[in-house]
Amino acid sequence: MNKLSLKAVEEMASGGKFKMTPQRRVIVSYLEKATSHPTADDVYFAVNKKFPMTSRATVYNTLNWLKSVGMLRERFEGEKMRYDPNCERHHHFVCAECGMVEDISSELIEELGTIKLPGNHDVRSYEVTVRGHCSSCRD
Ligand SMILES: [Zn+2]
Ligand SMILES: [Zn+2]
Repeated sequence: MNKLSLKAVEEMASGGKFKMTPQRRVIVSYLEKATSHPTADDVYFAVNKKFPMTSRATVYNTLNWLKSVGMLRERFEGEKMRYDPNCERHHHFVCAECGMVEDISSELIEELGTIKLPGNHDVRSYEVTVRGHCSSCRD
């Protein structure tokens, strides 16, 4: 499972104990299209436009379940926990001005080769965060 999709989520939920409700479907659809690495609050406000009674608990339950089945990743950026539906290996660009977080395909960053750390750590992977000013903030 690399990219979150409503179809894959429906399939996974149908065999397990996670029940898809209209609210949960809206949460998943929103995340499926999200490229901005939304926070739980972003998800909450977007879902409440369609279902004004959706609770924060429903949002968190859905986010946690998606995370537990490997369809959503958490990343801490700009002092906020953000959710990333792209579970393929990738890097990020973060704008120092507006705080936007954008995916960078792993092919665009030159591989570092074997990383040797002090101590007996077993390095499996790494992620790069490139920082600067986005095209709209440069001017
Ligand atoms: Zn910017
Ligand atoms: Zn990402």
